[in-house]
Amino acid sequence: MKKLIAGNWKMNGSLAANEALLRAIAQGLAGGAPSCDIAVCVPSVYLPQLQALLGEAASPHVPALGAQDVSPHASGAFTGEINAAMLKEFGCRYVIVGHSERRQYHGESDALVAEKARAALAAGITPIVCVGETLAEREAGRTEEIVRRQLAAVIHVNGHCISEIVVAYEPVWAIGTGKTASPDAAQAVHAVLRAQLQAASDRSARVRILYGGSMNAANAKDLLRQPDIDGGLIGGAALKATDFLRIIAAAPHPVPAKTAI
Ligand code: PEP
Repeated sequence: MKKLIAGNWKMNGSLAANEALLRAIAQGLAGGAPSCDIAVCVPSVYLPQLQALLGEAASPHVPALGAQDVSPHASGAFTGEINAAMLKEFGCRYVIVGHSERRQYHGESDALVAEKARAALAAGITPIVCVGETLAEREAGRTEEIVRRQLAAVIHVNGHCISEIVVAYEPVWAIGTGKTASPDAAQAVHAVLRAQLQAASDRSARVRILYGGSMNAANAKDLLRQPDIDGGLIGGAALKATDFLRIIAAAPHPVPAKTAI
């Protein structure tokens, strides 16, 4: 399976800064097909700008477009919300749901995250479902329980099409802190999530499980070579083209599928 490297620009950027960043990324990718899939998840107001810039790019090797949140509702009196059909109109292929910053600052529950994933899937957008434990939960030995509970809610609501999601394991204590889970520790949690997906769907092998939390150019290679780490969700390091390109370059090529003799 091809790895996926997705940038989460969070609430950063401006028209000028986005254009410079996107052009630098596109230029860095112009030399040939990267070994992995790439996406940038940008603030929603900039989706039209990014859609236009990506459409104009001379090279076919450009990132796919993603958003950072979506309403669970289809339309109506939900002031400030953006629905999945709107994201689709602006070329979104991915949308992040349940990022820890939304769970923490906006009180998003597991059930709401599951509904957001459902809304994205219904519109043909791949939800990148974030799960992860806080430092207190890790120290209390509750990591597995927390991530399994968060993923179970999404499986419960989306069971029939769970193989269409991407999961991102993002330990909250590692996001934006410079502290990264060690490759072995991250792999152990990814294996738990993989087993949970396997129990839920016989098509689970196609679900990519990304790691997120201070992934950078220096640590990406060791994380991305773990068997159940299928890519990265990158915050800070996605805002500098050179760093983002170095993470992309660190992604190993997919192992070719075995052919029957
Ligand atoms: C994130 O926001 O999803 C993230 C992983 O951030 P950072 O890479 O900055 O830790």
